[in-house]
Amino acid sequence: MTDALPETVLAALDDPFAQLTGSLAGTRKLHFEVATTEQVSPHMQRLELTAAELDGFGYLPGQDVMLLVAAEGTRPVRRRYTIRRLDPERRALTLDIVLHGEGPGERWVRSARPGDRIEGIGPRGKISPSPEADWHLFMGDESAMPAILAMTESLPGDSEATVVLEIPDSADEQEVAASARTRVSWLHRLGGQAGDPAALSAEAAEVELPRGSGHAYLLGEAKVVLRLREILARRGLAEDQMSPKAYWGRGRANAGHGEPARDA
Ligand SMILES: Cc1cc2nc3c(=O)[nH]c(=O)nc-3n(C[C@H](O)[C@H](O)[C@H](O)COP(=O)(O)OP(=O)(O)OC[C@H]3O[C@@H](n4cnc5c(N)ncnc54)[C@H](O)[C@@H]3O)c2cc1C
Repeated sequence: MTDALPETVLAALDDPFAQLTGSLAGTRKLHFEVATTEQVSPHMQRLELTAAELDGFGYLPGQDVMLLVAAEGTRPVRRRYTIRRLDPERRALTLDIVLHGEGPGERWVRSARPGDRIEGIGPRGKISPSPEADWHLFMGDESAMPAILAMTESLPGDSEATVVLEIPDSADEQEVAASARTRVSWLHRLGGQAGDPAALSAEAAEVELPRGSGHAYLLGEAKVVLRLREILARRGLAEDQMSPKAYWGRGRANAGHGEPARDA
């Protein structure tokens, strides 16, 4: 059993999130233990984490947990990962984490073994399916697949969803167990660079926007999200019909609080 951070390092941290107040009001500290870890496709590792604090834990589809994956001196390094599903009886939640190459999150994920412990905080995040929308459009890359699938699968059977997911190749596709009328387009990068806006932008320019009032959820690489938002705004979607969120920034590590740095 290995802890993501030894007790001595944890005790010495200068932690801005020591108190769960402000933006962290309503979250819990979660003392996770890795139950299982499995590579489910060439670029996706699935971890199941258990914690006593998951007893009575509530969250909205699309919300995430923040894991304390490392420390730089006394500064905590956190990374955010979306809750793919929760098994309340076993007090276990599932995370699907992209194997993209290099970073403190990636290093922890690759080394994690059953019994290892890591501290989390959750639930976090403000983006969930809009209850007023007549239709839903989800666009993103593989880092957004857990959020997009969790949100799509939560929609009632009489709703309409379009899912556009850019992934490395067909072997990374996952089953979508949705009750809603759902159209799924997989865009295969086939060796192309993650974070290149071309394929998702082309799809945003062409994708059918049904009648009525819809909502678009745009998640993934920071500049790609920005581009998708501009394209859909030009096509007539109002600001309050779009939920954009930068998950990572190409060529640049996320900040210690787990999001792309603001000046990125
Ligand atoms: C709210 C929220 C929810 C998220 N949910 C998930 C989730 O469920 N699953 C998931 O896998 N990720 C998710 N992410 C994204 C994840 O937190 C980032 O990808 C994060 O940068 C990974 O940390 P790292 O330490 O591995 O890499 P970092 O140290 O942040 O970055 C190191 C290098 O890797 C590159 N990089 C980082 N992420 C990627 C990527 N996905 N593809 C290609 N290159 C990359 C960076 O550009 C940088 O050059 C979420 C992010 C947010 C903000």
